[in-house]
Amino acid sequence: MDWLLGCALGALALSCGGGPRDGEPSRSVVLVTCDTLRRDALEPYGAPAGCSPSLARLAEEALVFEDAWSGASSTLPALSSLFTRRTPDELGVTAGNRLLLGPEVVTLTERLSEAGIETAAFVSNAVLRRFPTPIGEVALAQGFEHYDDRMAAKERNRRLLERNAPDTVRAALDWLDAREDPLRPSFLWLHFIEPHGPYTSGEPLELEGEEPTAELPLGTTDRGLGEIPRYQDLGGERDPAAYRAAYRGEVRYLDAAIGDLLEGLRTRGHLDRSTFVLSADHGESLGERDWWFTHGQSLAPELVRVPLIVRVPGATIRGRRAGLVGPFALHDTLLSSAGVLPPERSVTTPGAEHWDPLVVQQRGRPGTATHETAVTDGRFRLTWDGAGGERLTDLWSDPAEERDLRSQRPGVADRLRERFRGFGEQRRVLPEVRALHVNDVFDLRAAAQHGRELEALGYGGD
Ligand SMILES: [Zn+2]
Repeated sequence: MDWLLGCALGALALSCGGGPRDGEPSRSVVLVTCDTLRRDALEPYGAPAGCSPSLARLAEEALVFEDAWSGASSTLPALSSLFTRRTPDELGVTAGNRLLLGPEVVTLTERLSEAGIETAAFVSNAVLRRFPTPIGEVALAQGFEHYDDRMAAKERNRRLLERNAPDTVRAALDWLDAREDPLRPSFLWLHFIEPHGPYTSGEPLELEGEEPTAELPLGTTDRGLGEIPRYQDLGGERDPAAYRAAYRGEVRYLDAAIGDLLEGLRTRGHLDRSTFVLSADHGESLGERDWWFTHGQSLAPELVRVPLIVRVPGATIRGRRAGLVGPFALHDTLLSSAGVLPPERSVTTPGAEHWDPLVVQQRGRPGTATHETAVTDGRFRLTWDGAGGERLTDLWSDPAEERDLRSQRPGVADRLRERFRGFGEQRRVLPEVRALHVNDVFDLRAAAQHGRELEALGYGGD
């Protein structure tokens, strides 16, 4: 009831022309998602000093979530799950980055926009580019009043466009400066391409005491199993340590840009008017299970565990939080921070029931050998592969998931299986929800004739 009243008052305030009044909670949100960012590459998650100084400073005035997970291990499925509070299977966006959210799916941006909140996105990965379609707005661009996908840089080894982090920050701050009413509640989303490979931004960062690893062959594909993926090739370099140092260099380059963003928001007064959320779409394999400098190939923890740092307006709540947070709880937190959902739906509200009881990840097309589902309750994780295999792991004693405990702990596996069944039954299945294949909605040939090479559209691969 209080919440409904709050909404009514919020609507009244909006109809009177403006932003938060004295004593009113701020309703602005800044969401920063970093592509391919492992949490252990950041100082708040154990990386050595100097790896991410800006995020170390942010963590001192924010909440740091120790058990945050993405919903998938590649960009579009992961972000689609976050923006819709649905699993990749429910959305049909399961095959790498070639399938897009259809227009009938309601995104959190659309809900924010309906509530009168100004929405703007600044994206820097080619798979997030927007093109006119005959059926209107699709994928993640849905609901944004302002969607800036200008990309002038070219990836080193593929004909893919991207935008580097300083340019993305500048575009977002320019937009803030040009707003008619700087106090109007807003949702500002920045998606950085860094530290996605090839790791060419920033100076490589070497760490003392790193174990040497044998040289790897240079791959002839982008796969990365037992070899350097072709798209990662740094001038014929075969030493994995050089790539790890280059990855850390990308992270430090990104960190500096995020530092500039935070400073820009602070000097404009926008940081303390906003809930600032930093996370990643997915992680990256740096040699685990012999997968090198790639992602999307499985649901292994190094690919789906993500950093999550949330600074509330005025930095009034700080510290570390141990509860399980997945894309659904983060989705609700973004809406709650903007006043669209009640405060108890936010992971920042002390004492509220805000954690995800079960987090689900999916990849691959259902019914095929590549399909995988993983569910975790924070301690145990149960994974099903496309061939009908099942695996149970204990994240507390075995965070790298090397041992299958199914025969030792059959009761735990039964319980997780049962809970996932219950989770599925609670979900509202919308038969009309249908993913769109990129070839069906984008006229790629016409785009190419306008001087855009097919591959540069970003849909040449996964
Ligand atoms: Zn990504």
